Amino acid sequence: MAEIKELKCVIGGCSYSADEVTYTCPVHGEVGTLDILYDYDHLKQTIDRDEISASRVMTSWRYKPLLPIHPDSKVPPLSVGWTPLYDTPRIAEELGIRQAWVKDDGANPTGSLKDRASTMVLARALEKGISTVSTASTGNAAAALAGLGASVPEIDIVIFVPVTAPEAKIAQLLVYGATVMLVEGSYDDAFDLCMEVCEAEGWYSRNTGVNPFTTEGKKTVSLEIAEQLNWSVPDVVIVSVGDGSIISGTYKGFHDLNKLGWIDKMPRIIGVQAEGSSVLAHAWKNNMKAEDIVRTEAITLADSISSELPRDRAKALRAVRETNGQYVTVSDAEILEALPKFAQLSGVFAEPAAVATYAGTQRAVQSGVINSDESVCLLMTGSGLKDVRRAQESVAKGIRIQPNIDAVRSALTQVRTQ
Ligand SMILES: *Cc1c(COP(=O)(O)O)cnc(C)c1O
Ligand SMILES: [Zn+2]
Repeated sequence: MAEIKELKCVIGGCSYSADEVTYTCPVHGEVGTLDILYDYDHLKQTIDRDEISASRVMTSWRYKPLLPIHPDSKVPPLSVGWTPLYDTPRIAEELGIRQAWVKDDGANPTGSLKDRASTMVLARALEKGISTVSTASTGNAAAALAGLGASVPEIDIVIFVPVTAPEAKIAQLLVYGATVMLVEGSYDDAFDLCMEVCEAEGWYSRNTGVNPFTTEGKKTVSLEIAEQLNWSVPDVVIVSVGDGSIISGTYKGFHDLNKLGWIDKMPRIIGVQAEGSSVLAHAWKNNMKAEDIVRTEAITLADSISSELPRDRAKALRAVRETNGQYVTVSDAEILEALPKFAQLSGVFAEPAAVATYAGTQRAVQSGVINSDESVCLLMTGSGLKDVRRAQESVAKGIRIQPNIDAVRSALTQVRTQ
């Protein structure tokens, strides 16, 4: 395993030992999220990337030597990670770039990249003998925790959601057997209550941007991209951003590999936000500090990237600043347009928040942020089956015909001449 050297506050550099702090920096509060750091020189001498490449563990646990977990510790049995990385020449051609890869994280057990964080947090809970793990969310994070949690009988899952949350989303949590608390209040009330109960009851919180182990779970997506490209990296990795945890994890994975000398450069990391939920894009553009970001109303159809105050804002700004990257924004109309287009060019059906990266790459190429001779990896963070209603809005209806072959032929003639 990778022995934790320190937990380091992203805001003030405050340093803590592994068991000193569980969530954020006591000095800097909620914005002072922590990095889990290792003794990279020691790791360099004790682990070998070829050994990892030879591993027959086809899940994110193939990277146990780079994760804060003991090699013999029990982990959730569901198969998270080691998702496909597709070379997609038609996407490259359409976007006008040299090469495009698609990392399909919709292929995870509950259909999103969030499974990577949930499996890590549950493994940590098992190691620590904690019997209840909790989060406040209605989206993919809650589904991931409920699903992975159902595979671990030793641990109970409690999810706090605002009472106004869509019933269909809550149904998935209940199907997995999670206890769902419908809080009569806002999402923030649910979040604060969840944290308070975790503290009081000794539960473990998986909340986004609070628990540093979530970043370590999410970093495995970058470890995979590098390994799948034979330990090299694309020029650009493009990620959609809401609370900023995925982009932070993406950065951390490449950061660790770079520290180990397993890759020879950091990719530029480009974050994509919806125009109606673009706090981080705004902060980046105006050179703001994470501490100065204020809550701003968020409206976008891409619900998985809707965030009024990104919880992982400090790490999310750093990911872009330190890699010479950028934030771009895309409109809801561009996202809807990208949805079927991306699916038709790649065979990957992704949810609106995920295909935002396709629209974002388009924007970045048009504005010269990405050059035509560069290679880009588009992170597809969630399956299109998560939001079939939006997909329906993005396409025309089928062709209505009489039940005979002549009708089929005449319909086909029409389609083909269109
Ligand atoms: C959560 C999520 C995002 C955004 O991740 P953040 O960590 O909130 O920035 C993007 N796409 C999908 C599908 C997600 O579930
Ligand atoms: Zn601090």
